[in-house]
Amino acid sequence: MIEISNLHASVDDREILRGIDLRIGAGEVHAVMGPNGSGKSTLANVIAGRPGYTVTAGQVLYRGRDLLELEPEERAREGVFLAFQYPVEIPGVNNLYFLKAAVNAIRKHRGEAELDALDFMERVQARAGLVKMDEAFLKRPVNEGFSGGEKKRNEILQMAVLEPTFAVLDETDSGLDIDALKVVADGVNALRNPERAFLVITHYQRLLDYIVPDVVHVLVDGRIVESGGPELALALEERGYGAFGRHGGASR
Ligand code: ADP
Ligand code: MG
Ligand code: MG
Repeated sequence: MIEISNLHASVDDREILRGIDLRIGAGEVHAVMGPNGSGKSTLANVIAGRPGYTVTAGQVLYRGRDLLELEPEERAREGVFLAFQYPVEIPGVNNLYFLKAAVNAIRKHRGEAELDALDFMERVQARAGLVKMDEAFLKRPVNEGFSGGEKKRNEILQMAVLEPTFAVLDETDSGLDIDALKVVADGVNALRNPERAFLVITHYQRLLDYIVPDVVHVLVDGRIVESGGPELALALEERGYGAFGRHGGASR
């Protein structure tokens, strides 16, 4: 589904990603872990196409197509979803309205009929139950005045309603309490299926107690220095990132 080869990316002429290779198959959940400043969010942002990042080498293929060639909106319509580390507020735009517009833009793009009001509400209500979100929140402006936990629920609700093909979750590591972690995990686990892939980015191991990934990658200084099974996350928790060379290549 996703094939990243030799990806190099810079911010303000500073190279942050220094040769990332990553292949994620349909149905798989991959976790990327790494110390602060290692480039985790940069990787997510490059995949999503956020402005401010310059890809200087390498490529990202998404279902065989050059993802980097597509505009960010086009990536979203093609089924790529990025759950932002700091979800944006959209003052004045009702959450429901926003979701409906987003869902129907994707459906239209796929040549599917738009959801009518009733079908849409059925889908939203079912998914709101998944993240235990009160229906009152649906009618409020997107994220306006939401607490951190409510924004997190809303982000996962967006993902559940949009049903992405490839979802990237860039987890903020501070301020995620255990309830919010479970919301994220329940959302991901409920949506896991053979046609969908996830890239879950996290600093700490604890999220992976709830989302058991197929593959764990360790990102240090803009490079993946080691990949392995879920047990790698546990080993990291014990050994810390210090066990990995600052300039690529795990020290053994
Ligand atoms: P992580 O998510 O692993 O903590 P980031 O990808 O956020 O790491 O950051 C990697 C490095 O790139 C950091 O040194 C950070 O300061 C820098 N960086 C990332 N995004 C920007 C940006 N938009 N402007 C300036 N520097 C940035
Ligand atoms: Mg950071
Ligand atoms: Mg980050």
